[in-house]
Order: sequence, then C-alpha cells, then structure tokens
Amino acid sequence: MVTGHNRVFGCAANLLRGKKCVFCGSFKVNRTRRGYVKCRKCSKQKSLAKLRREIAILQGFYQQVPAYRLAHDLAVDAKVISRVYQRLRAAIFHVAELEAMESKLSGEIELDEAYFGGRRKGQRGRGAAGKSVVFGLLERDGRVYTKVVENVSAETLMTHIRANARKGSVYYTDAFKGYQSLKRYGKHHTVNHTKRFVDRRTKNHINGIEGFWSFGKHILYNYRGVSKYYFPMYLKEIEYRFNHRRDNLFKLFLHTFFGYVSP
Ligand SMILES: [Zn+2]
Repeated sequence: MVTGHNRVFGCAANLLRGKKCVFCGSFKVNRTRRGYVKCRKCSKQKSLAKLRREIAILQGFYQQVPAYRLAHDLAVDAKVISRVYQRLRAAIFHVAELEAMESKLSGEIELDEAYFGGRRKGQRGRGAAGKSVVFGLLERDGRVYTKVVENVSAETLMTHIRANARKGSVYYTDAFKGYQSLKRYGKHHTVNHTKRFVDRRTKNHINGIEGFWSFGKHILYNYRGVSKYYFPMYLKEIEYRFNHRRDNLFKLFLHTFFGYVSP
C-alpha cells in the first residue's frame, strides 16, 4: 500500500495549481479571466475553484470520511459531497467489473459467502431478511471478486464460479453443500471450521476471504450504515480498494473521476 500524505496526494499538486489539465494530463493550459483552467490540447475547461473542491472531496473519499463529516470539515453542502461520492462510486463499479471481465481468477481460490447489514443473525440462506448476501471468490495473494446474490443455491454459486474462475483451479471452501459439485471444475479442498488450527502444510483454510470480509465490514463501519439499495456499489468500492491495495488509490480515484492523470 502506498502511504504518506505527500506520496499519496502529490499527484494532484499541479492540478490544484491550475498548471495541468485534469482531463488529458497536458501542461498546455491557460487560466481564463473567469478563473477557469482551459486546455489548449483537449479544449476542455473547468473552474479552478470547482476543481479544487472536487479534489478535496476525492481526498475525503480516499480517506473514507463520511459525507456529513466532510461537509462540516470543508464547509460545503453535504449534497455536493454525496453527489461526488456517488458519481465516483458508480464509476468505480464499472471499472471494477471491467477489470474482472478482463481475466478470470486462477490458481488457489477461496470461496465463501457473507451476510452484510440487517440486525438479526440469520441462518445461512434462510432467515437472512434485510441482509445482503454476498458471494466472494479470492485468489490467494491476488484479487477478489464479489457479487450480491439472491440466494446461495448450488446453481447460483456455480454460475458465478464458472463466470469468474478458470477451470482447473484449486478451490478452498467450507463444508457448505452448495459447493458439492465443485470437483467438476477443479481440485476441491473442504475446510473443517471446527478445527481451530490452520494446517500450514496443506494450506487448507479460507483465511484470505475471511480477512476480506473483515476488511469490508471495517470500511462499512466507517460509512455508518449503508442502505440495501446502494450496498452493491459500496461492495464494489471495497473490492476495488482491496484489489488495488498496493497502488496509489487516490491517484486511481482521480483518474476514474476525471478521466486522466499522468503517472
Ligand atoms: Zn486537456
């Protein structure tokens, strides 16, 4: 993960000074009398005041500051913050899905389902009213792919496994019956949850995907409650943050929001 205030936010310095075009990365920009930055290369223009405000909001998004609190910190209407957050989240959703489509997961893959939201502790697959059911596939030391599902029937799970994992992968799951037919798609190891100790030799565990669920729940906790309607967008944001945990996420967010940020 890229850390340090300057290393993370430094990529926005020339944008904030109005010296670089936020849309194409060109330095051939003019300042107009109305306070706009106008690009001679792509001809696009934007108010510098508005640009600075949006970049500040993207910093807040990067740091997972809830919209209402960022509104207070920046003295900006909360609606403006929410609009930027939602727009970026929608863009991230598409980028994350495109990245997943580009290449299937492979190698050692951990599979698991999780329940988000709602107050009642429901049973698996049933009694999960009010909760969002999520199916996740995690490539060890690699990427994760998540999907909000209607149910956890074997048919549903297998559909998503076929679509997102390469045939012949090695699968790790718990003993849930929905995974019974997995052996047709590769090697299948079943983890016994009652065993407290992880067998390092057989690598028979699903600690990776379980770690991802906690990572996700921590982020959702920061946002203080997410409606079921918007949940899929938040889930993709979490997936994207996880998959790019070794990159400068802020720079990626700038890129996704405005379209271009040079290296
Ligand atoms: Zn430009």
